[in-house]
Amino acid sequence: MTFTELQNELNERAAQGLLRQRRTLQSPQAPHIVVDGTSYLSFCSNDYLGLANHPQLIAALQQGAAQYGVGSGAAHLVSGHGTPHQQLENELASFAGKPAALLFSTGYMANLGVVQALVGKGDTVFADKLNHASLNDAMLLSRAAVRRYRHNDTAQLAQLLEQAGSGRKLIVTDTVFSMDGDMAPLPELLALCERHDAWLLVDDAHGFGVLGEQGHGSLTHFGISSPRIIYMATLGKAAGVFGAFVAAEQVVVDTLINHARSYVYTTATPPALASALLESLQLIAQGEASRAHLQRLIAQLRNGLRDLPWSLMPSATAIQPLLIGENQAALNLSDRLRERGIWVAAIRPPTVPRGTARLRITLSAAHSAADVTRLLEALHELAR
Ligand code: PMP
Repeated sequence: MTFTELQNELNERAAQGLLRQRRTLQSPQAPHIVVDGTSYLSFCSNDYLGLANHPQLIAALQQGAAQYGVGSGAAHLVSGHGTPHQQLENELASFAGKPAALLFSTGYMANLGVVQALVGKGDTVFADKLNHASLNDAMLLSRAAVRRYRHNDTAQLAQLLEQAGSGRKLIVTDTVFSMDGDMAPLPELLALCERHDAWLLVDDAHGFGVLGEQGHGSLTHFGISSPRIIYMATLGKAAGVFGAFVAAEQVVVDTLINHARSYVYTTATPPALASALLESLQLIAQGEASRAHLQRLIAQLRNGLRDLPWSLMPSATAIQPLLIGENQAALNLSDRLRERGIWVAAIRPPTVPRGTARLRITLSAAHSAADVTRLLEALHELAR
């Protein structure tokens, strides 16, 4: 391996419009941000309820740090598991309507840990083709056989389940697909699990806090519940802080504590984050007005984008991707918006399939109707 080789690979990526580069945010996460010295109206965070910079969460984090310090100092199984972590797990279990919950450092690590702890050689994982990368990586790491089904195609999934061997069966799916915004047919997936004695791991990263009564998430949205469902959600999106959790039967959580390598072999997150998250759960539960406002913004955006040359993907959630197609075209449109002071990230392969580069517009309850109008006007102007 040489450095020239690496540089050539990066140059090749750049030539295909696929090079990734970071920009530095100089303000808190919010609809109006400052990036590299310039102000922008942003439509590309997952801060769906506008909690990332909420004064009550800032105060709770400060209070948590004052009481418990900054670093956790060790893994949960050694001496890093603090009172706020335990309180938060108790609250998350009841919030998710499950007997037990377990905190993970990130959603990525939660997915790796759950799949690897529950299935292995001789077992089969069934996965939607548009699942998040962390679920895909988790399946590979688990060494279970992998069967991927076409997006939301429950008929194909049923066939694959028929053909499966005798080992454990685990269906894994995003609830709200992160780059598409549409939802998995969870009631049908659960019915298939029951018919085939399979488990269902749902990744509610984009549903938790936003969907269902009191923001309880996608299971509440569909009105389903079952011991077969292993519920995972992240805490750095609508919850406005950081981290993730898994809620499930007690025996599943005990298995994760013992076998999930991304849980066992890592330092616990700072306890003050758990203090902030305890506050966040209260704000989420009280957030009906915010969720109603978010729904109005989604309707406003969809109505306003009807007659553009680019098609809006079928989504009823806060993730509203505008399908562009070619990588460079998506980058160009994102650049033209940026020149107008509007920040919408272009999402390209391998994050999405080839030829489906898109602008992933995300809305937050912190946006105003006037913010959405400004985006609509800019897109219509660029379409002309
Ligand atoms: N699952 C989904 C569906 C996601 O969108 C994300 C984050 N983009 C993750 C998991 C990973 O969560 P985290 O950022 O906490 O690692």
